[in-house]
Amino acid sequence: MTLTTDPTTLDELHTRASNIRRRIVDICANPQGGHLGGSLSLVEVLTALYFDVMRVDPALPADPDRDIFLLSKGHAAIGLYCTLAERGYFDAEELAHYAETGSRLMGHPTRDVPGVEMPTGSLGHGPALALGFALAAKLSGSPRKTYVALGDGEMQEGSVWEAAMGAVGLRLDNLVAVVDRNGLQLTGDTEEICPVEPVAARWRSFGWAVREVPGQDVARVREALASAPWEPGCPSVLVARTTKGAGVPFVAGKPNSHYVAFGERQHARALSALRRAAEQGRAPRRTDAAGGGADD
Ligand SMILES: [Mg+2]
Repeated sequence: MTLTTDPTTLDELHTRASNIRRRIVDICANPQGGHLGGSLSLVEVLTALYFDVMRVDPALPADPDRDIFLLSKGHAAIGLYCTLAERGYFDAEELAHYAETGSRLMGHPTRDVPGVEMPTGSLGHGPALALGFALAAKLSGSPRKTYVALGDGEMQEGSVWEAAMGAVGLRLDNLVAVVDRNGLQLTGDTEEICPVEPVAARWRSFGWAVREVPGQDVARVREALASAPWEPGCPSVLVARTTKGAGVPFVAGKPNSHYVAFGERQHARALSALRRAAEQGRAPRRTDAAGGGADD
């Protein structure tokens, strides 16, 4: 079978992103909570990939020529699960059983979940795995592209840069990385813990083609990802300037958005904010956030 991309209108992308965000918030209202902030910041990237850019078919999850997505920042599993359910890989009702005993929807993704390509979450491993997928495609003559999303704090892992060097040496222009540049990691601001700036210049110095976009702007994210590779023979990295917790104003841009178990009132407040944004037909804006950049 020949996989094709499924062109999607911008309105539909906004609707999908809104649905995914609501599902993430619902999961975090379960007693065990979940990794809210880094899932919400990645919503527009996941939406653009799964609903427009990637050549995938939920009915044929093992098609050898499908595009590959790896969530290197595997702790954002609920963002991936909600996207896969929204895309039709499995029934969305299963999301209500996240992290329950016996559920395949665990805190980090495993291949028991339809659509998940590799178990991830040991930070720094995703780029090397992605390099392997991309190299295999080149060697076998497959048109597949490989996409990998990593956190900005994850750039502090040395193994990221081993893969970055290797991908350039192997001229893997079928490899696209996305850095979720939300400015925060588990315990605070990346620049206070171990600076990663200048993010774009670091990747460029390793030989990657680099673009930066406001990461909550699904149109800009889609345009960038759909047009990769940006330089022949070079792997591409999109620096998505996002807001951790985007869409939920009382946690957006705050370190405590990292892991959240909403109480009943907080859950209602969060859903209300998402509903207002959806009614206004807009993505999360900077005014929704206490901090975090969303500009180029
Ligand atoms: Mg981060």
